[in-house]
Amino acid sequence: MPQITDNGITMIGAGIVGICCACYLQRSGFDVTLVDRGEPAMQTSFGNAGGISPGNVAPLGMPGMWKQIPGWLLDDTGPLFIKGHYLPKALPWLTRFAFQSRTSRVRQISKALLALNSPTFSAYQPLLDDAGVAHLFHRTGQLFIYRTRQGMEKDALTHELRAASGSSVEYLNALDIQEVEPALAPIFEAGYLIPENGHCKDPLGMAQALVKMFLNKGGRLVKTEVLDFVFDANGISGLLTSGGALNTRRVVIAAGIWSKTLCAKLGWRIPLESHRGYHATLEDPQVAIQRMCFPVDYKFAVTPMTMGLRIAGTVELAGLDALPNYERARKMVEISQILFPGLRTEKYTQWMGHRPCLPDSLPVIGPSPDHRGVYFAFGHGHQGLVGASQTGKVIDEIIRGVVPSMDMKPFKIDRF
Ligand SMILES: Cc1cc2nc3c(=O)[nH]c(=O)nc-3n(C[C@H](O)[C@H](O)[C@H](O)COP(=O)(O)OP(=O)(O)OC[C@H]3O[C@@H](n4cnc5c(N)ncnc54)[C@H](O)[C@@H]3O)c2cc1C
Repeated sequence: MPQITDNGITMIGAGIVGICCACYLQRSGFDVTLVDRGEPAMQTSFGNAGGISPGNVAPLGMPGMWKQIPGWLLDDTGPLFIKGHYLPKALPWLTRFAFQSRTSRVRQISKALLALNSPTFSAYQPLLDDAGVAHLFHRTGQLFIYRTRQGMEKDALTHELRAASGSSVEYLNALDIQEVEPALAPIFEAGYLIPENGHCKDPLGMAQALVKMFLNKGGRLVKTEVLDFVFDANGISGLLTSGGALNTRRVVIAAGIWSKTLCAKLGWRIPLESHRGYHATLEDPQVAIQRMCFPVDYKFAVTPMTMGLRIAGTVELAGLDALPNYERARKMVEISQILFPGLRTEKYTQWMGHRPCLPDSLPVIGPSPDHRGVYFAFGHGHQGLVGASQTGKVIDEIIRGVVPSMDMKPFKIDRF
């Protein structure tokens, strides 16, 4: 087990959030060790939809959404599903979620999301340039499409929040949609394009390239499971891991959904819930689109990637241990055949991942108020690829002791 120097920092979790934090800290001269029990970026950061949305400032919980919860129990292939036996476990989280979905609170959350997400491209740029993978980012906009105009009008608050954030939006009718993405079936009445958004063509490849760069510059990667924390009079002094003890004076917990268990060891009860999402990546779709498309009625996204066309999304509340229900992935493929005439679906890979979600759609970022040397960077939910780069930047600023480049109050751990 390597021992950490005075200038050392240990990052628990080599998902995209931990990787971005590690890269930023290394750039500032820290001696960084990334610790993960598996290979880097093989959990939630492996199979996301690749969406990078500086203009996405609406939280997940919007006013009135809680009224739909009973309906979410009924169809296990529907866009949002709660497994019946899991409902009692999910209920406390759902109650907090409903409470955070008040209009006044949604406006506050939206401001915090803007601060975290709007710098996403500029915060990624230096890391991508260093790793030589800037070409994996495509800033060709994102297209949101609705079967009916009334469907789009129901999302009025989302549009208002976007407008308030200064994000540019181009509203489209049925003909415009056909012009923007001719591969789509002519079944969408209305939609909009957010030109400043984009996508990553290979989220795993990008994360692996950042790790390679980090290692080439002298960073360390240790494959072990962190089990507990050790403290002395000066704060944290080490970690207990499955591979032995690891001395360290500074630790960042960036373990995605599993941060909940690690925080519990420190006495923090964090309402972190897994929003299980699925993907199907079609190897030979025979359909080409230029940008990420969101058929909003179905709660999934379709993204052109280097390895094929990825259909990803939906939400399932069933906890960490339930087996994946790949019928959900198959259903997205089936719907996509209607959305994209001629789509070839014979060959696809499927996957399920755990989005680490807090009830207010905001992650926890910053120092522990009661454990010297411990910092948090987890809970990025549906937007972890978007938020990872700025999270890395502010974690580095906080640890260096300079004023963070955004207001950190909304992200504090003791807000729950
Ligand atoms: C279907 C789907 C689509 C998505 N689409 C998008 C999108 O378009 N845009 C977007 O921005 N986000 C998207 N997301 C969300 C995004 O993927 C996540 O928010 C993000 O990957 C979370 O990254 P992370 O680093 O926090 O967690 P993870 O990637 O889960 O990494 C956590 C790491 O911690 C390690 N770990 C855990 N516990 C321990 C321990 N005790 N000891 C050692 N290691 C440990 C794990 O092995 C893992 O490698 C999507 C997610 C899903 C499921």
